[in-house]
Amino acid sequence: MRYSVFAAAMVAVFLMLAAPTRSLAEEPGPDATGEAVMTGFQQGSKDGRFEAVLTFKGHPRSRILLLRNPDRVALDLFDTVSAAPVPAPADPKAVVDMRQGLVSADRFRIVWTLKATALPVAETRDEDGRTILTLRFERTDGIGFANAAAVQGVPITSEAAPKTTAPAAPGVFTIVVDPGHGGVDNGARGPAGTLEKEVNLAFALALRDALAKDPKVRVLLTREDDRFIPLTERSEIARRAKADLFISMHADSIRYRDIRGATVYTLSEKASDTLSLEIADSENSADRFAGPEWRQGKPEVFDILVDLTRRETDSFSEHFAAELVDAFGDHQIRLIKNPKRSAGFRVLMAPDVPSVLVEIGYLSNDEDEKLLLKKDWREDTTSAISRAVLDFLKNRTPVASGR
Ligand SMILES: [Zn+2]
Repeated sequence: MRYSVFAAAMVAVFLMLAAPTRSLAEEPGPDATGEAVMTGFQQGSKDGRFEAVLTFKGHPRSRILLLRNPDRVALDLFDTVSAAPVPAPADPKAVVDMRQGLVSADRFRIVWTLKATALPVAETRDEDGRTILTLRFERTDGIGFANAAAVQGVPITSEAAPKTTAPAAPGVFTIVVDPGHGGVDNGARGPAGTLEKEVNLAFALALRDALAKDPKVRVLLTREDDRFIPLTERSEIARRAKADLFISMHADSIRYRDIRGATVYTLSEKASDTLSLEIADSENSADRFAGPEWRQGKPEVFDILVDLTRRETDSFSEHFAAELVDAFGDHQIRLIKNPKRSAGFRVLMAPDVPSVLVEIGYLSNDEDEKLLLKKDWREDTTSAISRAVLDFLKNRTPVASGR
């Protein structure tokens, strides 16, 4: 299978710092917010080994990710502000390129593209109230890197998870609802001026209310207000929360103005039809608002271990999509022709969380636009989705309790 680099970030490899001393992520912050400032950054080769030395005021939460094709090492720093000039990596034999930038509101990322395959070994120490993080790149072969990436691609470290994704109580299912678009990304705009990002949020909140009636379900939203979140971060929120299901809510515009009704999309490498391909392309372009690391589009080959997980996840996603189409039918919610479709939606690429994208209706259609603004219809639709979710969860064990 070939996917883009965005998939790599997910497959990803939440390798915690292999610190001989201790993990940065376990350290308490200097205050309640745990904010840190990067005050120094040096890098270069020493005795033929590349290393980067970062100095912080405070104790940043952090994690390392290994990304493949090309082989890269990414360092994520949470709640960290960069106040240091960053020199270019001086050794082209070890590192060909380095990028840095904010990948979400609370996360600063540094990515090294490797020339010589290497695994990072991290060490931290305290010095006069400062934290010094040293990353040493230990040479390995391609197989060593691939194994490290694959083995660590599936489990997720809870230490690196934001405070908002505490584990669910035993026996409780976690559903992540994702209101599409937000912030600078308005999504579609209806003929009467309705903004898709607002419709999506209203539906997500209504779905949360509907699902919250069941004590066996907890619902997390990727956003609860009008903010921009990169696509991969949305699915990462679901992965970190060990979600049992991820539902992305949309109401896009399409060029066929007479088409109206709900559609349920799952992930597929090849789009089921032209309309799905166009919608996925339009959805995936939301990341034009994101930082440069999210926008590169290089091919990515999935690892075999991830492939196996992927197959199981895909079958659960298909199963839920079918339940959802049935539930919409039972509630007499209008569906488009062939309402279950698929395409390469980036937001659905979590390899281990069953994921669907629901177009509740299309803002390009006048009638749908009116309907999307009606509270009664919204409640009916979200109760249909909620019904389908509960049916899907029957006979399942929450992921957080182990499948
Ligand atoms: Zn959308």
